[in-house]
Amino acid sequence: MIGAGIVGAAIARSLGRAGHEVIVLDRGPTAGGTSASGEGNLLVSDKGPGAELELMQRSLKLWRELDGQLRDELPAGFPSLELDHKGGLVVATTDPGAMALREFAALQRTSGVVAQEVGEQQVHELEPDLTRDYTAAVFYPGDAQVQPVVATESLLASARRRGVQVRQGVEVTGPIMTAGRLAGVQTSGGPVHGDAVVLAAGPW
Ligand SMILES: Cc1cc2nc3c(=O)[nH]c(=O)nc-3n(C[C@H](O)[C@H](O)[C@H](O)COP(=O)(O)OP(=O)(O)OC[C@H]3O[C@@H](n4cnc5c(N)ncnc54)[C@H](O)[C@@H]3O)c2cc1C
Repeated sequence: MIGAGIVGAAIARSLGRAGHEVIVLDRGPTAGGTSASGEGNLLVSDKGPGAELELMQRSLKLWRELDGQLRDELPAGFPSLELDHKGGLVVATTDPGAMALREFAALQRTSGVVAQEVGEQQVHELEPDLTRDYTAAVFYPGDAQVQPVVATESLLASARRRGVQVRQGVEVTGPIMTAGRLAGVQTSGGPVHGDAVVLAAGPW
């Protein structure tokens, strides 16, 4: 596995749970790439009907399941994912913006998204510092957030419990080819052989 970001961590955990022998290599620290910069938002509020919304709806169910699994698996007090079902508030500040927001929310409802137009009192309970000059506000109780570094570390902790090895500070520098097939990778710490190489190096 090349990369110990959230993607590499999730795949390593799944492979470890399936009984595979896995070595995760990262040139830096774990969760030190893009996964250290993301906000961890899991949003339905910004997605209209279609594949991306369906993926997010499925993803939210999986995050919830994963949270339960990690709480059972990891030692008491381990932060798991910091999964927070806080919901999301979307506001418009012009009349055309309000019309567009209401139309978008109505469209989202046809795909099962809960989108509640909320009045002044509830808006300011949800977000006390919000400007008074808004023209419409829609609350999406389905929006959630994880802490991406914590989530990555929890996935890796779970993977380690299944025997997955995690090596930090090891840069992958090239392939090892045997009879025209990929048989491992060259690294700054020497060759690492394997039946398969998973490239989870993010945007790098
Ligand atoms: C500002 C910002 C906000 C974001 N907000 C959100 C959000 O709200 N919600 C959301 O879902 N997503 C968000 N994202 C996107 C999300 O953070 C990324 O999609 C995700 O972190 C990618 O994870 P990854 O594991 O693919 O990559 P990375 O976390 O980058 O992991 C790849 C790892 O591979 C390692 N690597 C690379 N090359 C090598 C090599 N040659 N040898 C060894 N190791 C190597 C790197 O060191 C790195 O640790 C945001 C991103 C940014 C930048």
